[in-house]
Amino acid sequence: MAFELPALPYDYAALEPTISSETMTLHHDKHHAAYVNNLNAAVEKAPELAGKSVEELVKNLSSVPEAVRPAVRNNGGGHLNHTMFWELMTPGGAKEPGGALLEAINASFGSVDEFKKQFNAAGVARFGSGWAWLVKDGGGKLSIVSTANQDNPLTDGHTPILGNDVWEHAYYVDYRNLRPKYLEAWWSVVNWDKVAENFNK
Ligand code: MN
Repeated sequence: MAFELPALPYDYAALEPTISSETMTLHHDKHHAAYVNNLNAAVEKAPELAGKSVEELVKNLSSVPEAVRPAVRNNGGGHLNHTMFWELMTPGGAKEPGGALLEAINASFGSVDEFKKQFNAAGVARFGSGWAWLVKDGGGKLSIVSTANQDNPLTDGHTPILGNDVWEHAYYVDYRNLRPKYLEAWWSVVNWDKVAENFNK
């Protein structure tokens, strides 16, 4: 069974004005679609990978045959990251974290505002293309990491519960070169219910 591009869980225009329909259309239909197509092409060349989920592939990159490992790293990561990313945004829903997730954020960062500040700083500091992540480790401890390109924290043994795409394709149509402005605005579309679901898993 080949990997498939999942449909967006909302309309292309649903996140406006924070993220335009133009950005969502290009990002989902062109960028994410390309990761899926390239991942399928790579896996076709390594029959021993057939049937593995994208999480399994990304988590165990070192066991992927070397001939296709860079392609699986980039495109498997791209497919996994974007599949997560669409669900981590919503036009409605909780506007702030609550419950056990809020307690964990306060315990690790002091406050939600301080957490957002550190997360945005990680996104700004990522040179070139990559992602900023909130990850959960043993004992429910939260921390912020950033990855290059389409690397996912799973490869390093972290469990990602929230991530923001800081590739230029994620913001250049709407924010031009102003990545910090995009990072700041993005919080208004974060799906905290989904983050809590990831945290409570
Ligand atoms: Mn992207």
